[in-house]
Amino acid sequence: MLIDFSKTRQLPAFDICIIGAGPAGITLATKLQSTGRKIGLIEAGGLEFSEKSQSLYRTESVGRNLYAELSRLRYFGGTSNHWSGRCRPFVPEDFKPNHIGDLPGWPITFDEFNHYLPEAMKIVDLPESGFFKTATRPFTGREFESDEHALSPPTRFATKYLQEIQQDANITLVLNCNLVDLAFDPASGAVTQAIVSDYEKKRSAIEAKTFVLAMGAIENSRLLLNSASLMSLAELKAMVGVGFMEHMNVEMGKFILRGESDWDSGGYFTSAAFVEEQHIGRGNVTFGVLQEIKSYGRTAKIKTFLKGLACRMEITEKIQFLQSINCPGQGVITTLLEQAPLKNGSRISLSDQTDFLGLKKARIDWIVSDDDIRTIRTIGKEAAKAFARSGLGLVKLHPYMYNDDEFIPLSPHAHHMGGTRMSATPAGGVVDTNLKVFGTRNLYVAGSSVFPTGGGGNPTMPLLQLALRLSEHLQSTL
Ligand SMILES: Cc1cc2nc3c(=O)[nH]c(=O)nc-3n(C[C@H](O)[C@H](O)[C@H](O)COP(=O)(O)OP(=O)(O)OC[C@H]3O[C@@H](n4cnc5c(N)ncnc54)[C@H](O)[C@@H]3O)c2cc1C
Repeated sequence: MLIDFSKTRQLPAFDICIIGAGPAGITLATKLQSTGRKIGLIEAGGLEFSEKSQSLYRTESVGRNLYAELSRLRYFGGTSNHWSGRCRPFVPEDFKPNHIGDLPGWPITFDEFNHYLPEAMKIVDLPESGFFKTATRPFTGREFESDEHALSPPTRFATKYLQEIQQDANITLVLNCNLVDLAFDPASGAVTQAIVSDYEKKRSAIEAKTFVLAMGAIENSRLLLNSASLMSLAELKAMVGVGFMEHMNVEMGKFILRGESDWDSGGYFTSAAFVEEQHIGRGNVTFGVLQEIKSYGRTAKIKTFLKGLACRMEITEKIQFLQSINCPGQGVITTLLEQAPLKNGSRISLSDQTDFLGLKKARIDWIVSDDDIRTIRTIGKEAAKAFARSGLGLVKLHPYMYNDDEFIPLSPHAHHMGGTRMSATPAGGVVDTNLKVFGTRNLYVAGSSVFPTGGGGNPTMPLLQLALRLSEHLQSTL
């Protein structure tokens, strides 16, 4: 069933009210549908992109720029409307205590988590055959192995699930309906109502036995922080927004192949032994050969001649302001690296600025800590050595890779994680091992905001694994 909240403000009461219809929320709703319970799926946006909804994703950035408005989509299907579909699962070593950072790691076992991998792979339309290696030529040495990943088509959750949801008598999808507050009753420990608003600022209250926040990592923290009655809980005050993480994309340097004309590119992944020995984050290093510039006809001949001349004379950098030239076999080294979750590291808090619905905007302080810099430099130096040692070619690292005084420029991967971390106790996080918010008896969180560590893979398939696990828990409590 589908309700447009901008036209109908009367909403039924639900058994389970899921707020946010991205991959996490949609997966949870469709899994719970068979329970016969009344499921509400509350979505801020409509079925298409709208500037009005998207503008509510504006944030205040006080650290490195996360591009938080551009890297999320605020309508049915969420950010899966433009995700790339790269999937790499967590590895057993991610679940070791004290893997990285000064906050506690995963409080559940890898097996408990991995149990849901086959079903999560099906949801993102991956073949059962699994993941493929991405390095055409392996490195020698023990620091790196060939990276493994798989590519989802990529699955667009809106396209795949809209019809099923619309036709389902147990699921009510409510569009254009923004969560603005959660009413919490300290005496019973229950969230009693979700206060929602349309775009004309007209509000209603939704009643449900259980509520699940699935609005993406930044909004999950932001909405908790904006809910004054909940934030009166001592358990939450200290930890909501703490331990926020991204994956770091650093251009580490350039390389030139040693006569390997057929070598395309190679993805390498840090070995468990190397990461443990160095006590650093794990992740991927990609050696990508730059595409040659395409030219046709007479200009092709001239360009080929000039390019050859420039490369032989080693003056490409000097003439790059005139023409961008990539010499044959030349490439760049890029990364997807894990950040350390830190008590005083990156954090989501509230800005003094409000959006047009009256909610405080998220203030994002994305930090690259000393631990992260050590991860970047250690991996970069070893990758350069391994590349040369394997006879593949030569690497020229950028000076910031070894010069402590230099600032390391890097970009985010649009992988927002942490802020409502899963933990065994309230001292280390916001949700318990069942994803229930500490201090409450009926409020849960789904999505990568619950990750205590981010690993070196992509977050969407793992967050689906957790959504599947949560659906089982909720079924057992109904
Ligand atoms: C360009 C790009 C490429 C990416 N590529 C990959 C990739 O290759 N692999 C990978 O694993 N990940 C990738 N990601 C990340 C991936 O998109 C996210 O991990 C995933 O979408 C998160 O799912 P989610 O359901 O938790 O949140 P979202 O997809 O962000 O969905 C949240 C939903 O909540 C709704 N919402 C927000 N606020 C409210 C509110 N107040 N009230 C009601 N509803 C609300 C939103 O409208 C949205 O529908 C990529 C991201 C980007 C931007």
